[in-house]
Amino acid sequence: MSANRAYLDWNATAPLLDEARAAMLVAMDCVGNPSSIHAEGRAARALTEAARADVAALVGGEAENVVFTSGATEAINALAKSGICAECAGNKKSGAIFALATEHAAIFAAAPDAQVLTVDAKGVFQADQLQRITPGALVFIQLANNETGVIQPIAEIASVVRAAGAFLVVDAVQAPGRIPIDIKALGADSLVLSAHKFGGPKGVGAIVFANRFARLNTAFIAGGGQERGQRGGTENIICIAGMGAAARAAKVAELNVANILANRDAFESRLKENVPDLVIFGEGADRLRNTSLIAIPGISADRALVAADLAGVAISSGSACSSGKVKASHVLQAMGVASDLIGCAIRISIGATTTIDELKRCEEVLLRLAQQRKPAHKAA
Ligand code: PLP
Repeated sequence: MSANRAYLDWNATAPLLDEARAAMLVAMDCVGNPSSIHAEGRAARALTEAARADVAALVGGEAENVVFTSGATEAINALAKSGICAECAGNKKSGAIFALATEHAAIFAAAPDAQVLTVDAKGVFQADQLQRITPGALVFIQLANNETGVIQPIAEIASVVRAAGAFLVVDAVQAPGRIPIDIKALGADSLVLSAHKFGGPKGVGAIVFANRFARLNTAFIAGGGQERGQRGGTENIICIAGMGAAARAAKVAELNVANILANRDAFESRLKENVPDLVIFGEGADRLRNTSLIAIPGISADRALVAADLAGVAISSGSACSSGKVKASHVLQAMGVASDLIGCAIRISIGATTTIDELKRCEEVLLRLAQQRKPAHKAA
């Protein structure tokens, strides 16, 4: 990363950790195929299995229950399309799919018929919604939202899902290194992860099942039987090794987030002091300590992003942008935010190496924009 840039978009992707880079370099020189039985193959297998154990440890799970994928998008697709085969519950095929309105777009694209569970104005699930869940259903709930950082009370949700005879998939993508994750304490039947959100490489992720009986109902990628027959294809051992190293580092990082919280909170309160009509989405809810989704009414996200970029600051908007198309944030829509305010939503997401100086640079840009507003929007 260029030294004069302030990278404040960690929820989009976090910088690669040195530990991950080093592990990947080692894996690059590992010539064997993990399925081969010779010494070279066994070395590649050992490297893969060590990473599997590290990923399991990150979430308090068992290595044998980890299935590597190309990322969380694939993991969500696999679960939604193949379903969970929970032999332990005598349930061979899952039924309907439910998803919280603020889930990642992947679930709504993979399961267009998913039934939507609504959230309140802070982005938190509404308990009465859970009464709709039917036996055998797969219920997708994020541990923490990528746009707002709002954390859902998963253990509370899990007990209702279990009582309904349904299965809980927790999208834990934004949590590693930020909050502790324990699949058993959460009561989830499976978790999905993506390495690049916690300092690993892009293009690798995992499904972690809660017990060894739970697995995909059918192979998501048919092939040579890799990943306990659930995802065929020679394993990407370079990325898997990077993910394992990042998982180890994230486990340590989660103990060390106090200064990130202090920085984020100081950033928000300084901005609020100077821009009294500043909106902080999800304010008052339990939020990830590194995430700030805000709006300065009257300043479009596009304008703020361009101004920040020109000043060397990388932030993102609260709108999903893919293939050059910008869509209004479905997360903020679900929270009942007015569309003109959605158009002003910008996300600042920070990490372990973010400095106060970087946040101050961002603040300066935003304050300058706020001061340029027409009188109707100027702070009272
Ligand atoms: N879930 C959440 C909460 C995310 O933030 C993302 C990525 O933005 C994903 C899933 C998908 O992850 P990936 O694009 O790495 O597959």
